[in-house]
Amino acid sequence: MIPTSASSDHDELRDALRALCAQFPGEYHRTHARNETYPVEFIDALTRDGWLAAMIPEEFGGAGLGLTEASIVMEEINRGGGNAGHCHGQMYNMGTLLRHGSDAQKAKYLPGIASGDLRLQSMAVTEPTTGTDTTKIKTVARKQGDRYVVNGQKVWISRIEHSDLMILLARTTPLDQVKRKSLGMSIFIVDLKQAIGNGMEIRPIRNMVGHETYEVFFDNLEIPEENLIGEEGYGFRYILDGLNAERTLIAAECIGDGYWFVEKAAAYVGERTVFGRPIGQNQGVQFPIAKSYVNIEAANLMRFEACRRFDAHEDCGAQANMAKMLAADASWEAANACLQSHGGFGFAEEYDIERKFRETRLYQVAPISTNLILSYVAEHVLDMPRSF
Ligand SMILES: Cc1cc2nc3c(=O)[nH]c(=O)nc-3n(C[C@H](O)[C@H](O)[C@H](O)COP(=O)(O)OP(=O)(O)OC[C@H]3O[C@@H](n4cnc5c(N)ncnc54)[C@H](O)[C@@H]3O)c2cc1C
Repeated sequence: MIPTSASSDHDELRDALRALCAQFPGEYHRTHARNETYPVEFIDALTRDGWLAAMIPEEFGGAGLGLTEASIVMEEINRGGGNAGHCHGQMYNMGTLLRHGSDAQKAKYLPGIASGDLRLQSMAVTEPTTGTDTTKIKTVARKQGDRYVVNGQKVWISRIEHSDLMILLARTTPLDQVKRKSLGMSIFIVDLKQAIGNGMEIRPIRNMVGHETYEVFFDNLEIPEENLIGEEGYGFRYILDGLNAERTLIAAECIGDGYWFVEKAAAYVGERTVFGRPIGQNQGVQFPIAKSYVNIEAANLMRFEACRRFDAHEDCGAQANMAKMLAADASWEAANACLQSHGGFGFAEEYDIERKFRETRLYQVAPISTNLILSYVAEHVLDMPRSF
């Protein structure tokens, strides 16, 4: 295995995850990707061993670990050839409930989420007509008696068919009646089994990465008022609070992908002989692989700095965003180097490279695009003028 800057930390944790992931080889993930099916057995095994409940406090049945350890779980899934995109929602969506839910909501949902009996894998924010400009969302929730009635549309909402619960962001006060555009939005817990067919419809979106994701339509969906999380009107702030964990975990997934690509490429170029010598003897072949390794290592340091700050309850917005961007760029660079060094074989399904190449490309766009990270750094870290 290639050395990594954090290889001596958390050895036990990594060994346990590697043993689990080894039971699900490339062929397993490849078959699910090809058939666009959900890797149920793999996710069940991760759930059974408690990995997806890493960040849930022990009092609610979780492992009570930090973001550092949780990020290692995500990294190892991707480093082992899998795709944590199938389950990362279960790891971080509960954070919104944990931080902003009432005691009653936490007691009702968190133990079930920790055991895996309840899956909170979906979070519905993005809309087709407003995109990244989230404060303009058009989905509305109107209070009527003891319930909210929801109308509107979402897009790219992932893992709905493998979730029991979904967090929904909707506007509760019209944009032209709020002091700040970020106010007047609220978040709700949606019981998906009750909702689908009763005011909520879903339509799968076939996509490049076989990611289970949907268009969602709300037509007078009724949500009981006790499903409002926190205070009405502050939902956008609550969602933002959860993003640092999400970005750091996804950075770790990209780092796992990056090491997977580098390892695969370095091994292959040492074996593949063309013109009478291993192709890896040519510096033109070595350097792109070495360069992507250097960049993954650098991104990894920023990821662990984001984790350290998060776990110490320090502000980590800048580090989480930068880690996500650096890691996504580095994994994409490694993906290209790996594909290129495999020549034609990189395109063959059985090598898994083309699958992971597509999977890692997603993270330039979702859950936040690179441009929006640069905009965050420009405005919030470097104090440049706001552009929107
Ligand atoms: C497979 C997949 C799964 C997803 N899962 C979920 C989910 O579970 N829940 C959810 O809510 N969303 C989900 N998303 C949505 C995802 O978060 C968005 O696609 C992403 O945030 C980008 O938003 P958009 O697609 O609306 O792009 P747009 O906002 O339309 O932007 C398009 C491009 O323009 C650029 N751009 C836009 N404005 C600016 C600007 N001012 N300056 C510079 N560049 C700009 C962006 O960087 C981007 O590259 C998912 C998306 C995918 C593809």
